[in-house]
Amino acid sequence: MRESGVKAERVSVTVAEARDLILSEAQPLGSETIGLSRATGRVLAEEICAEVLIPPRDNSAMDGFAVRAEDVRSTPTTLSVVEEIPAGRRPERKIGPGEAARIMTGAAVPEGADTVIMIEETVSAGASVTIQKSGPKGEFVRRAGSDVVPGSLIAEPGTVIGPALVGMLSAIGRTTLAVAVRPRVAILSTGDELVEPDRLEPDGRIVSSNSYSLQSALSELGVEAVYLGIVPDRPEQIEARFRQALGCDAAISTGGVSVGDRDWIKQVLADLGGEMRLWRVKMRPGAPMAFSLVDGKPVFGLPGNPVSTLVTFEEFVRPALLRMMGHAKLFRPVERALLAETFEKPRGRMHLLRVRLEEREGQTVAVPTGDQTSHILLSMVHADGLAIIPAEAERVPAGSEVAVQMLRRDDLRADPGF
Ligand code: AMP
Ligand code: MG
Repeated sequence: MRESGVKAERVSVTVAEARDLILSEAQPLGSETIGLSRATGRVLAEEICAEVLIPPRDNSAMDGFAVRAEDVRSTPTTLSVVEEIPAGRRPERKIGPGEAARIMTGAAVPEGADTVIMIEETVSAGASVTIQKSGPKGEFVRRAGSDVVPGSLIAEPGTVIGPALVGMLSAIGRTTLAVAVRPRVAILSTGDELVEPDRLEPDGRIVSSNSYSLQSALSELGVEAVYLGIVPDRPEQIEARFRQALGCDAAISTGGVSVGDRDWIKQVLADLGGEMRLWRVKMRPGAPMAFSLVDGKPVFGLPGNPVSTLVTFEEFVRPALLRMMGHAKLFRPVERALLAETFEKPRGRMHLLRVRLEEREGQTVAVPTGDQTSHILLSMVHADGLAIIPAEAERVPAGSEVAVQMLRRDDLRADPGF
């Protein structure tokens, strides 16, 4: 029989220290080349600069007539129409004094012409056109290179690829590009009391909801989750399952990370040769939480309570995986809000309160969503964000301004904001 856990450790770090430590060990996995049609949501792994002019030549922004500005300085004036230029066809005639060309939107402006008169300001009669009203020189001409020129910076590594960038890349003729490799992440849930949701019986056992909330959190990130199921609280079995997990780029376990007789995670990670980097974090919900490198791969031993699992994922695992995926920005946005109720706690740990944001009389108010204990998942279901109550605070009166980490937002920031 092995001995459970390493019980003597007392070293405890702040949330910011834990985050820094974990991020310092998370390295991008490298890149692969993919086709543009599969690029949406992926993270760019190269710098993209234009090599062409867009638009490739001066073209018309309107249906109308291409003219020389000096010919239409005083109106009305009549010009002879020498050519008709639909979009996509090269003009054949140079526009000389007293001449115009009928031109369609997007068609190349012919040599000699510098201005387009919109059709609404003209009256055509056979081979001539009378210009009723003219604008400034250059009006309704989209200049060659007004979008990009060779050398224009289009996107930097770390950018998440979305519709506008896909359109731009296609416009400059890029059909393949280098993107960051997506990590495969193993999930295993430890606990003798756990069953899968389709095996729920009135026998006192509970569903391993963490297995599903974590798979969901990974799929939201665009990470491939490899679910390794439920493992009983037996070190040999946990160790065997972790060996399997190490075939992936990172592993996440839940439960068994505290100091109880059946809490084997730390011991098993040590037996696997892992370097334990972190265990106690001064936060609630959350601590304890293990972070270890096994064969150089990050392994997160998250606590078992369902809200602790999700909050530690949010604060530590998510930014680390984003970094491994090549993202330049790792953190959810933080909003300021007024706390709706007075909150009291002992000094020493950061508390992350589940809140929803409401607009009241022109102000944003953070309203706790209910019971804040770490097994109450429903208050997490209803939360827009986590209100950050700093470790040193003891009493935060109602109406105080707090930072709220916005859990449903994907407009990520380079700075954690707390
Ligand atoms: P532990 O960290 O193993 O002491 O677990 C703490 C609490 O979380 C216990 O009440 C467990 O039953 C519960 N728990 C552990 N793992 C899970 C899981 N995968 N899904 C839901 N609850 C869990
Ligand atoms: Mg347990």
